[in-house]
Amino acid sequence: MTLRSETGMFVRVEVDDAVAGDAAAAKSLAGVCPVDIFADEGGRVALVEENIDECILCGLCLEVGAKGGVRVYKLYDNDAQLTKP
Ligand code: SF4
Repeated sequence: MTLRSETGMFVRVEVDDAVAGDAAAAKSLAGVCPVDIFADEGGRVALVEENIDECILCGLCLEVGAKGGVRVYKLYDNDAQLTKP
């Protein structure tokens, strides 16, 4: 199940419920993303919609939380899912 899904022009980011509600993951995601796509809202993950298309596909968010709990899709590439570089 996915709690958060925001779609930009070029990228879609999804975060599973288990990750979205994890305070440690919220803190990590807010800290790891170089373009501030994730925010820590009182211990929950929030997505910053206006920043979604700034994603540089670094893959750092994919390392946070349970494997596969955070997903990034490249809408300009037939919705290809970003994998770890
Ligand atoms: S791939 Fe990098 S830039 Fe894109 S959302 Fe994840 S951490 Fe942020």
